[in-house]
Amino acid sequence: MAVGLGKYDDLCTKVRDLAKARGAIIIVIQGEHGSGFSVQGDLELTARLPALMREMANQVEADAFTKAARAVSAGPGLVTMHLLSAGLPLCGFTTQMPREWPEDHMWLGLNEKDRPLPPGCAWCEKCQAAARVQ
Ligand SMILES: [Zn+2]
Repeated sequence: MAVGLGKYDDLCTKVRDLAKARGAIIIVIQGEHGSGFSVQGDLELTARLPALMREMANQVEADAFTKAARAVSAGPGLVTMHLLSAGLPLCGFTTQMPREWPEDHMWLGLNEKDRPLPPGCAWCEKCQAAARVQ
């Protein structure tokens, strides 16, 4: 079963096949073809999807809140903000996905490289240098 706008169904199929999964969800934000999502799975998985997504949203929100609160109370420069490219930091400080990063490392997308940062955050100099070369 496929639910969504259609333009990312092929990508979702690839992700599902690569993971050898019963189902897959992808959400693309400001991608080359705009934003969209695709959901693929059988009826049972699709029925469980709202609960699964609520749990995911709660985890994302809790994590973001924890990091932001820590960043504000930590003082200037104590949280390093990396630029993310294809799911990994541009500077290569780790090969792990952001959810595995130490709590004093956060990320923004490449298109946000000129964005002012909140108190307590400082840009990763290596990421910024790599972004200038691209
Ligand atoms: Zn970096």
